[in-house]
Amino acid sequence: REWCVALPKVELHAHLNGSVRDSTLLELAKQLGDRGVIVFEDVKDVIMKNGRSLPECFKLFDLFHILTTDHDTVTRITKEVVGDFAAENVVYLEIRTTPKNNEAKGMTKRSYMNAVLKGLKAVEDVDAVLFDSILRPDETLSRTPVGDLDGVTKKKKIYVRLLLSIDRRETTSAALDTVNLAMEMKDQGVVGIDLSGNPVVGEWETYLPALEHAKELGIPITIHCGEVPNRKEIQAVLDFCPQRLGHVCCLNDEEWKKLKSSMIPVEICLTSNVMTGGAPSLELHHFADLYNAKHPLSLCTDDSGLFSTSLSNEYYLVASTFSLSKAELFRLAQGAVEFAFVDDEVKKFLRAVFEHVARKGL
Ligand code: 5GP
Repeated sequence: REWCVALPKVELHAHLNGSVRDSTLLELAKQLGDRGVIVFEDVKDVIMKNGRSLPECFKLFDLFHILTTDHDTVTRITKEVVGDFAAENVVYLEIRTTPKNNEAKGMTKRSYMNAVLKGLKAVEDVDAVLFDSILRPDETLSRTPVGDLDGVTKKKKIYVRLLLSIDRRETTSAALDTVNLAMEMKDQGVVGIDLSGNPVVGEWETYLPALEHAKELGIPITIHCGEVPNRKEIQAVLDFCPQRLGHVCCLNDEEWKKLKSSMIPVEICLTSNVMTGGAPSLELHHFADLYNAKHPLSLCTDDSGLFSTSLSNEYYLVASTFSLSKAELFRLAQGAVEFAFVDDEVKKFLRAVFEHVARKGL
């Protein structure tokens, strides 16, 4: 386990509001309870419950959003989530979140994202590099962050980039707004678009115009695929050929074949899939089949708060369930760099981190 914590890691599939610490959720629930907005005891039981079905998760997200959606809280959770990932040696984090309009809070999609950016800039104890213009003046692109891994500088360094999520409950026009916002925020750390939200809600055709618009604009896309056995949509998603796919649980033989020949990298979320029933068990998780087929994969947490996991734990689970060696785990972590949506300069940094660790050992 300690080795998995020490391993530098790349996180490509983490939802902001699913990664909030339980302690923070409880504190926020307590505050709202005191103000009579919610009944704290009821909410506490829901937050502390272990093991959740997929429909329960989405009910919980509605609750999380009541707790978290005002600007200051969005800023706070962003700061905490980045700090938590950095603390377990995640060196590159692509955090995804759904920009939200909320008239009652005076919130627009843009002001929501500004609150996220504020949180990234407020990260303490960690050198969170959001966009290159905030690299410290003494940092040139030829300097790699390996110094941090040597303990030369005390602060851990984490590169953070953002993906804007389209929620399946949204209309075509709201989805287009999110894509346009991603384009507008290209220089502020936004590197891609995600399609997520309750997989039994909404129609592929609703989001397609926005996803096609993103494609035309050259914005990389990742899509939650096959969380439920929706044959028509799985086909459509595979045909759309996004840059990455999340989950891919409920594929049939023909779809597995198509996925494997596409070589589209898959974001694997072991704990999430087992807890929500997308995979029957850890042992029977499709990780093994894709890994043996040498399909491009990256291990991810999905919702580290909701599922009480961490990226280190996901590596540990893979090692213990599928008997992967340290060298194999290292290659998995290293390989994920190549699937990141970030520019090549940052990838060079990240490659250097892994090469350094490979030479030096952990
Ligand atoms: P947020 O975008 O509000 O920061 O993060 C929470 C949102 O991410 C949820 O409301 C949901 O739309 C999406 N999400 C989180 N986990 C999952 C998941 O496992 N599957 C899907 N399809 N969406 C998810």
